[in-house]
Amino acid sequence: MTDLDIQEQVSLQTYNTLAVDVTTRWFVAVRTNEQLCSALQFVKTQQCPLLLLGGGSNVVLTDDFSGLTVLIQTQGVHVEQQSDTRVLLSVAAGENWHDTVMYSVKQGWYGLENLALIPGSVGAAPIQNIGAYGVELTQCLEYLEAIDIDTQTLQRFDRDACQFAYRDSIFKHALKDKVVITRVVFTLSTTPVWSLDYPALQQALGGYDKAQLSSEQVAQAVIAIRQSKLPDPALIPNAGSFFKNPIVDIALYQELREQYPQLVAYAVDEGRYKLAAGWLLDNAGWKGRWLNRIAMHDKQALVLTNPHKQSGKALLAFVDTVIDDIQRVYGVQLEIEPRIYGNDTQSMC
Ligand code: FAD
Ligand code: NAP
Repeated sequence: MTDLDIQEQVSLQTYNTLAVDVTTRWFVAVRTNEQLCSALQFVKTQQCPLLLLGGGSNVVLTDDFSGLTVLIQTQGVHVEQQSDTRVLLSVAAGENWHDTVMYSVKQGWYGLENLALIPGSVGAAPIQNIGAYGVELTQCLEYLEAIDIDTQTLQRFDRDACQFAYRDSIFKHALKDKVVITRVVFTLSTTPVWSLDYPALQQALGGYDKAQLSSEQVAQAVIAIRQSKLPDPALIPNAGSFFKNPIVDIALYQELREQYPQLVAYAVDEGRYKLAAGWLLDNAGWKGRWLNRIAMHDKQALVLTNPHKQSGKALLAFVDTVIDDIQRVYGVQLEIEPRIYGNDTQSMC
């Protein structure tokens, strides 16, 4: 068993982007898969809960944690295969997501550019099938590897096995708390595969000749748009979009459209529509609104901000008020996107 530098009673405030101050009983940063296995062995021996963290940008921590928090910091990027048209890029779970996107666009590869500036680690990206500007991780994932927490065996999951859906995957359901993702292999194209339909992106790239466009230019446009409306977690603690965009049936969509002609919504399939949760919140007066020193962001109502570093419980109380209000105004139930960790939700391994 590899030696581990396990610390006791560590604050997690700097390890989650909402800057919530909870204490973990044990804490360890792992830089190799061997260290990761030793950490899993520790959890088994102690029979304590396990909390995996990458960038901590999609979690809400509501209580002190009684187990081991494992910060995934494994490193390594290499080309697994390359042809004239396609590159398979293997990236360790602890690598930074945005750095990976920028590395790929600098090589002149296409596929990840719309996903620039999403915070967090590569290993967490498949958990919610990260998406932005019309592209989801699933479109570029060849396969991933994960260690089974119970048996500590390495398993391989191809795209189908991950059961990706809108901000969703098997890792939020049947495999929740069952595996640690250790490596993600991306399939990237050496020729353009654009997804430039989102209005903001179209506007930003309006002056460009599409035939001359590079993936790096698209990534830079995405970065500029994001910087103009999303708060930097290092300056204003937040976890990105706090709610998923609700998917509703056509009857409710039509009812709402009649009442609110400006409603922002997109057809998902013949019978269902995706409502822009940011619009619902903005129109109900939540953009920039403060309550108990917590606020919805003044440039994007979907982003809950925690400038005064309030507790996770205070954040959830605020969120309950928002959810109730949206239900009252539109008859729509908002669903929280980040994962909540508290005494009620700790899992034993
Ligand atoms: P963490 O918050 O550390 O972990 C998230 C979950 O994954 C936890 O349950 C954790 O236990 C688990 N986990 C972490 N690593 C592993 C692993 N190796 N194996 C198994 N489980 C693991 N999301 C989008 O989809 N699109 C966006 O455009 C977007 N924009 C954002 C903008 C901002 C400003 C912020 C703060 C967040 C945004 N997010 C977005 C949300 C977030 O960045 C992503 O969900 C990201 O993938 C989370 O990565 P992380 O490493 O921070 O995960
Ligand atoms: P936006 O571009 O103002 O769009 C508002 C909403 O409309 C988005 O939620 C988006 O849905 C939807 N939309 C816009 N154009 C669309 C199209 N052509 N087809 C289908 N749906 C369309 O949104 P934004 O808030 O500035 O965010 C930009 C992108 O970054 C979005 O994709 C968003 O999901 C992503 N983002 C995610 C997070 C997070 O934490 N999850 C945080 C910041 C930004 P989708 O959300 O389904 O794309």
